[in-house]
Amino acid sequence: MNSLAVEVKGLRKVFKDVVAVKDISFTVNGGEVFGLVGPNGAGKTTTLRILATILKPTSGSVRIFGKDVVKETDAVRRMISYLPEEAGAYKYLTGYEYLRLMSRVYGKGDEALEDGIKLSGLGDALNRYVSTYSKGMKRRLQVARTLMVRPRLAIMDEPTSGLDVVHAVYLRDAIREYVRRYGITVILSSHNMLEVEYLCDRVALVNKGRIALVGKPQDLMAEYGAKNLEEVFVRVVRNA
Ligand code: ATP
Repeated sequence: MNSLAVEVKGLRKVFKDVVAVKDISFTVNGGEVFGLVGPNGAGKTTTLRILATILKPTSGSVRIFGKDVVKETDAVRRMISYLPEEAGAYKYLTGYEYLRLMSRVYGKGDEALEDGIKLSGLGDALNRYVSTYSKGMKRRLQVARTLMVRPRLAIMDEPTSGLDVVHAVYLRDAIREYVRRYGITVILSSHNMLEVEYLCDRVALVNKGRIALVGKPQDLMAEYGAKNLEEVFVRVVRNA
């Protein structure tokens, strides 16, 4: 699939006196897993929230599969599924009830529910109330919810944050396998460079509200003669 999934042009977002995003442009191809990385406060979450139609840009434009996020918000919302940085879940439902509710809200059937159950990897814990879940368990439920509806574009803000190594690896594998199987395009943010190297076809380094670097992880490492992405990014950020 080579269609253009995301087209961000000259994006800028100002909150009162804070310029969160200065001038960001990039594209994501259909079927691609695209990562945003960068220091705290660089503008990653703000960018993802604009893509998810939660925030309006101050200027610039964002198109998702050709639809403008400001002028064609409803059409965009039908194509996306968004995992916020800190997503709550309905406390008075069991994990299973939550996934079932979400599959219905999105107008999807039992197939989505079955996928959600598998993706979460929560097993019998799905019969417990979400209020009894650990932070990592809630995250796994939320990632499963985001992907199971098979959106054209999944927007995930730090999908594996708060997960232990074993569960992060499980979820990374599940994400990779699932999105490839269904041709889901993904844009995600992460602070974990290993994760980005493993999951992402291309990655953009956001620094101070701008894109400092974009490319395939392997190409960026070769260009900088670096052993890993962490080394590339520390160098770029320090020299900025
Ligand atoms: P992190 O890696 O810490 O999650 P980030 O790259 O996602 O950071 P953003 O959350 O996009 O960064 O924040 C970019 C800048 O915009 C920061 O200076 C932040 O304080 C500011 N900002 C974000 N949201 C708001 C808001 N609602 N009101 C005012 N300032 C905001």
